[in-house]
Amino acid sequence: MSERVILHSDMNCFYASVEMLHHPEFAGQPLAVGGDPEARHGIVLTANYIAKRKGVKTGMALWQAKQVCPEIIFVPPRMDLYLRFSKMAREIYSEYTDKIEPYGIDEAWLDVTDSKNLKGSGMTIAREISHRIKYELGVTVSIGVSWNKIYAKLGSDYKKPDAITEFNRSNYKDRIWRLPVSDLLYVGRQTNKKLKKLGIQTIGDLAETDENLLDSYFGKMGIVLWAFANGWDEDPVCKEGYEAPVKSIGNSTTTPRDLETDLDVWIIQMALAESVAARLRKHGFKCKTVEITVRDNGLSSFTRQRHLRHPTNITDEIVTEAFQLFKDSYKWEHPIRSLGIRAADLVLDDIPVQLDLFGNQEKQEKLEKLDRTVDEIRRRFGYFSIQRAAMYQDKVLSHLDAGTHTVHPHSYFHG
Ligand SMILES: [Mg+2]
Repeated sequence: MSERVILHSDMNCFYASVEMLHHPEFAGQPLAVGGDPEARHGIVLTANYIAKRKGVKTGMALWQAKQVCPEIIFVPPRMDLYLRFSKMAREIYSEYTDKIEPYGIDEAWLDVTDSKNLKGSGMTIAREISHRIKYELGVTVSIGVSWNKIYAKLGSDYKKPDAITEFNRSNYKDRIWRLPVSDLLYVGRQTNKKLKKLGIQTIGDLAETDENLLDSYFGKMGIVLWAFANGWDEDPVCKEGYEAPVKSIGNSTTTPRDLETDLDVWIIQMALAESVAARLRKHGFKCKTVEITVRDNGLSSFTRQRHLRHPTNITDEIVTEAFQLFKDSYKWEHPIRSLGIRAADLVLDDIPVQLDLFGNQEKQEKLEKLDRTVDEIRRRFGYFSIQRAAMYQDKVLSHLDAGTHTVHPHSYFHG
């Protein structure tokens, strides 16, 4: 079996690059896309390189950006336009392989192993894709080339903008193993802190650590990270049919038995929220509205919805909102037969949230990290390999695998 050839392609300063194309009059000037007009009081979503060099950073308040770079130009975000570019890039990728796995709106993995004979080596294909995106779309990409997804992703981060980096069997120890361990996918601030305490600073340090030690400190995820560091990542590039961006994501179920208590409802809502939130994350969205549907065993049903203070794709926040809605609207006159949760009013999830003054940011980041870790463990070890503590309270109810349950996505464009 021949070794795989994986590319990871990342469009540079994506929103800002697309806006620069549409505003030739701003050529050569610092520009930032920012100012979600309704919710937040204006923050930088993406800045072009000219603005970045002057110290403008993603997540900064617009007034701060103006302070470090007085001549900066702000333009409001246009999600539909960015989605259209994302789709055009995907069309180019699809000429090289049908194994394409998007990661957010501006990144994707490509498995081009089977295209080698026809299209040339991984580097040749990377050069061609980079060239075509530059001339056909007008934006630049960074591409990583390697034999696995994790190293390919590190390659696209290694040098940007407009660069190609190959990590192969003969150079990876020299180049990847020197990188700080925080560069690895899924190593967040908390994990990084713990690894530092163990004396693990670089990816090489992690690769050479005893796996049992990592297992005892981090559980399964420790083993996954250790394998990542070593380049032992067999995870396939998921060949997904093209899924149109969605307008809302919902999941509902007829329950395994009639529900009679708040706890029953909470367990089912948790399973539904987990699948809805996981799909939001997979599509790169957050929701601004949560909606619940309740049907009792007399078959009367109702729907209630609520707008959130901030957009979220965090399981905990979605289930909390759903459960509160339920508590506010149901008086337990009959047992319940069926429940549903829908996330609506979607926004892109890489839109950073302005740092708030009450320290909720840190808690939110922690929950986000937790959710992504659960996603990853489930992807690798199966849905039931990890369960929330409360789910053990009722085996019948919690045996619902919401991950494979009916999901009803609605197309963003035609919904
Ligand atoms: Mg990017």
